Amino acid sequence: MIDLHTHTKVSDGTDSPSQLLNKALAQGISTLALTDHDTIGGWEEAISHLRPGIELVLGSEISCQTNDGVSVHMLGLLFDKDFSPLQDVLTQTRENRHGRMERIIGKMNAAGIDISMSDVLAQLSDGATLGRPHLADALVAKKVVASREEAFAELLHNSSAHYVAHYSPTPEEVIRLIKQAGGVAIIAHPFASLRGRIISSESFAPMVEAGLDGIEVSHRDQTVEQRALLNQIARDFDLTQTGSSDYHGTGKLNQLAEFTTDPDEWEKLESRANARRVLRI
Ligand code: AMP
Ligand code: FE
Ligand code: FE
Ligand code: ZN
Repeated sequence: MIDLHTHTKVSDGTDSPSQLLNKALAQGISTLALTDHDTIGGWEEAISHLRPGIELVLGSEISCQTNDGVSVHMLGLLFDKDFSPLQDVLTQTRENRHGRMERIIGKMNAAGIDISMSDVLAQLSDGATLGRPHLADALVAKKVVASREEAFAELLHNSSAHYVAHYSPTPEEVIRLIKQAGGVAIIAHPFASLRGRIISSESFAPMVEAGLDGIEVSHRDQTVEQRALLNQIARDFDLTQTGSSDYHGTGKLNQLAEFTTDPDEWEKLESRANARRVLRI
């Protein structure tokens, strides 16, 4: 089983990278990608806990925004970590997320909700990428809401009055950087409309032009109809298709390998990286 999209404590998941590897191995996953939001901070721990029987694909889920202000997540896999222009973008995004969080908190305080930056930072592992899920966890801790899901549904979703975007490059910029770093670029859950505005079918052509390699077709946040449309777009542009869990530990309902990627599609994807970077022992 191949699961190409997972999170750890290094962003908004709840397992450490080593716990994630153990669970993946126990569940029979043969190829696992580590894709924390806007960081490669978990790579080292994952590499040092690599075990026989599982292949590790190092990556990151990179936050992007179209010129129309639509949020897009781009999975970059198998890229060279020493390509600094890509790392510079990730650093800038992570830094910008702090000022953005302060602005969200300011809006919530103005609306009478008692929450502070230190409440939110108390939910964050050292060095982890800060995001709305940590604010959700802080609101749960303060009993403002009962769960992350309720926090997003009531207060934190992209169309909420408290929403503030953070700095993000465009999808095309990020695809070009991933490709320059020798990796492969897969757009994550492009039609996950429950989260907010989504891109149109017409948005794929410029991303393909920039070097897009694949589309995450099978994902719990996309309906059967949306998957069928993405499948068609992937065929039209000769892109690979992936399926993945987007596992976040106990931070989300998503279970490891609840959707998986076909081995032939993975082989096609892997061959598009400029070096063999899948790790195994
Ligand atoms: P941020 O990167 O700070 O804008 O937060 C986005 C993250 O919040 C996503 O990567 C998801 O992990 C999480 N998220 C987004 N929408 C929801 C939702 N409706 N319920 C739970 N988590 C969500
Ligand atoms: Fe997340
Ligand atoms: Fe995502
Ligand atoms: Zn994700």
